[in-house]
Amino acid sequence: MRQSVVIIGAGIGGLMLACVLHRHGIDATIYEAEPSAHSRVQGGLLDIHADSAQRAIEVAGLGREFFRLVRSVEDAKRVVDQDGKILLDRVGDPASSRPEVDRGALRAMLMASFPDRMIRWGRKVASVTPLNADKHRIDFIDGTCVISDLLVGADGPWSRVRPVLTDVRPVYSGTCLIEIGLAAGDARHAASIELIGAGTLMAVAPGRGIMVHRNAEGSADISRSTNPKTGSVLSISEMRARASLSSRSSLRAGRLICATSFSTAMPCRCSGQFMPCRSG
Ligand SMILES: Cc1cc2nc3c(=O)[nH]c(=O)nc-3n(C[C@H](O)[C@H](O)[C@H](O)COP(=O)(O)OP(=O)(O)OC[C@H]3O[C@@H](n4cnc5c(N)ncnc54)[C@H](O)[C@@H]3O)c2cc1C
Repeated sequence: MRQSVVIIGAGIGGLMLACVLHRHGIDATIYEAEPSAHSRVQGGLLDIHADSAQRAIEVAGLGREFFRLVRSVEDAKRVVDQDGKILLDRVGDPASSRPEVDRGALRAMLMASFPDRMIRWGRKVASVTPLNADKHRIDFIDGTCVISDLLVGADGPWSRVRPVLTDVRPVYSGTCLIEIGLAAGDARHAASIELIGAGTLMAVAPGRGIMVHRNAEGSADISRSTNPKTGSVLSISEMRARASLSSRSSLRAGRLICATSFSTAMPCRCSGQFMPCRSG
């Protein structure tokens, strides 16, 4: 008899599992809360380690496709203190064992590896009820429900499936993430570009930090994190800024505007330093 394999969540984990199962002749159904594959920007780059995620990608038979997505030498790392003084400067390695790929591109690669029908978008799980040792009833917020023979929770930190397995709940650590999109700006702050370097820049201080990633195709991500429990003066915990650019000619401008935002905000004056760049 055909078994109903249900995966909750179309993040990297749920998609990877669906891909591997499909490759072995088992069609699972993924139920995802988001309305479509393109309903939001997926975030920045992920470094994919040889001893973990890359192994899963190999098992899925997607090694060749994966290496086409790799952003060579963007694993460069630079660490500065809160005044911009360089503490560590490591160049990118074209043969890195933990290369960087765009999260959205990785997700798209996984989704392309099995039929569209395997994902049901806009299906947010409200609750999960065990029916017996194997079967579960999954109720969605739209009032519908399905019964699974095998249920996999891949629905992130606030999983609706996890409570079936454990009483342990996520605990707020004091650090949050805020994402901000920045449009391209002009080329006024070359010194800040120099500060970022070729890959990731980390500016760290007790209780807060800013990370900037400079992408080869012309976008830059800025993340800002603070933790009030460890001494931050900010109410906003983490800021991520993204400036996406469409052409080589605007590449420089976008990097500059992000870098400028980064360097002016780095001494932890205020997140508002980023705001003018939004419409820039
Ligand atoms: C800033 C940041 C940087 C990171 N960098 C790296 C890195 O460089 N390399 C790396 O390997 N890892 C990195 N990680 C970790 C990585 O993002 C996670 O390990 C990974 O996303 C976990 O995948 P997942 O599929 O389990 O969960 P998620 O990616 O969280 O996906 C969960 C999915 O479930 C859906 N969902 C949630 N609730 C419901 C519901 N009730 N019903 C239906 N669907 C639901 C969500 O919409 C989402 O699509 C980073 C994480 C962060 C936050």
